[in-house]
Amino acid sequence: MRKPVYLDNQATTPMDPRVLEAMTPYFLEHFGNPHSTTHSYGWTAEAGVEKARRQIAAVIGADAAEIYFTSGATEANNLAVKGTMQALGAKRPHMVTLVSEHKCLLESARSVELSGYRVTYVPVQENGLVDLAVMEAAIGDETALVSVMAVNNEIGVIQPIAEIAEIAKARGAVFHSDAAQAFGKINLNVDTQHIDLMSLSGHKIYGPKGIGILYKRAERRVAVTPQMSGGGQEKGLRPGTLAPAQCVGFGEAAEIASREMAQEEGRLRTMMERLKASLKAKMPAVIINGDEDMRWVGNLNISFPGLDGELLLANLRDLALSSGAACASAVSGPSYVLKAIGVDERTAKASLRLGIGRFTTDEEIDFASETLIKTVTKMGGLKP
Ligand SMILES: *Cc1c(COP(=O)(O)O)cnc(C)c1O
Repeated sequence: MRKPVYLDNQATTPMDPRVLEAMTPYFLEHFGNPHSTTHSYGWTAEAGVEKARRQIAAVIGADAAEIYFTSGATEANNLAVKGTMQALGAKRPHMVTLVSEHKCLLESARSVELSGYRVTYVPVQENGLVDLAVMEAAIGDETALVSVMAVNNEIGVIQPIAEIAEIAKARGAVFHSDAAQAFGKINLNVDTQHIDLMSLSGHKIYGPKGIGILYKRAERRVAVTPQMSGGGQEKGLRPGTLAPAQCVGFGEAAEIASREMAQEEGRLRTMMERLKASLKAKMPAVIINGDEDMRWVGNLNISFPGLDGELLLANLRDLALSSGAACASAVSGPSYVLKAIGVDERTAKASLRLGIGRFTTDEEIDFASETLIKTVTKMGGLKP
């Protein structure tokens, strides 16, 4: 049996062999504790970690001192949301976010609500994008934090974060962005886009799992209360011994992604256009979810009206894809993101997320479109 074609690059990406190569010495040879200051084992490990910090900072126009390693974007989002509300919430007890954020951001927002802060969940339009006027109306003088993701993990739309951040800044609020799906794929710059806090993840950019960062602007108004007690690592914001191999891997992955960004985007765009064209030619009733222009080219979220969603997935064993976010598919039920853009429940269930990436080939694209067309035909075709 052949392995299914991997089309779930929004859930995670395979590791780039160049990343593994950079990491390997830090498991065996350079095993020191990066926080040991009295010998060369510690210094070597620390040097690796600090290089990674500079590599990541360079991609987003930040200072290395503003990068705080975490276990991933989930932890960074928790730290940004809970930590900011705890630090600033006494004076400004309100937070604004989007209904279509990643589950871990929404759950962090629920948690601060339970602590007594107010949260406004701004809706998105049918194209998945926020209406700037609605966003502006939601942000007030009591708003401590505005958190809006850069690229949506389910439907791939790119939110106008620079415009939103400017509104937040004018009201004196801190702006956070979950950029796990955007980092290394579209241009991000913390200064030109007025970003105060940003969450990133290693395993979405062909790096290792279990590592991420919180970018925190070095300004007093950007205050975040730590969520763990420990030995003061990462300037006390995120204590615990760092994992040098993971940090080094994330740094290398960031540098590669940044260097090859334009070239990779072009290649993915060509493949995605081909995939979309062949699907639409044979199945004109197929619906593309999310704005067609303001989107990351590696993501295609499509609905197959009239089909049974569970049966569809069961018939697609040759393709490794998902019907929504990986983290939400453990809990069954249709996607809340598709619901937020007005897709009815039955159609939402008959929807697929196709995520192509660095290692996707033209042959795999052709196999995927042939398989999808064959399966839908076998199931009786679309009934719009
Ligand atoms: C994957 C992802 C996360 C979670 O990142 P982890 O590093 O796996 O914790 C958060 N937000 C978005 C948008 C993601 O795509």
